[in-house]
Amino acid sequence: MPQRTFSILKPDAVRKGYTGAILAAIDAAGFQIVAIKKQTISKAEAEGFYAVHKSKPFFGELTEYMSSGPLVLMVLEKENAIADLRKLMGATNPANAEAGTIRKRFAESIQENAIHGSDAEETAAYEIGYWFAGYELI
Ligand code: ATP
Ligand code: MG
Repeated sequence: MPQRTFSILKPDAVRKGYTGAILAAIDAAGFQIVAIKKQTISKAEAEGFYAVHKSKPFFGELTEYMSSGPLVLMVLEKENAIADLRKLMGATNPANAEAGTIRKRFAESIQENAIHGSDAEETAAYEIGYWFAGYELI
């Protein structure tokens, strides 16, 4: 059964013109795009999205960065989408990411790391519902 995951091309990647190249990598890996939109989000919206990281020392700068410019919000679908996207993304810190991964190719730091991907079924469901209405996912 195909599975859905939620992904964001983060402001650093969009700003640097990597949107097309990253979408090509996602396409080549066999994902279908269920929904996609380019949007600049507010700090409050970023805080709600990353609420699980509220107590982390980097929460302020993370939400500042995520609201610093346009990003691309997506729902992606394939067999094993959640784990496969995480694998394609590479480690959170691009310095530790495997060769060929999106973060190795396009990210510059542990914070400005180009892409987000849901880490579990429950978080994928929460994140998809946070950014997309039901009618956008038909
Ligand atoms: P994401 O949730 O964005 O897919 P991830 O699951 O690999 O990334 P998390 O631990 O969930 O990593 O951290 C969320 C985001 O917070 C990271 O992607 C990164 O942008 C930022 N971040 C994580 N650790 C740090 C840190 N030590 N300093 C600054 N920013 C950080
Ligand atoms: Mg995460």
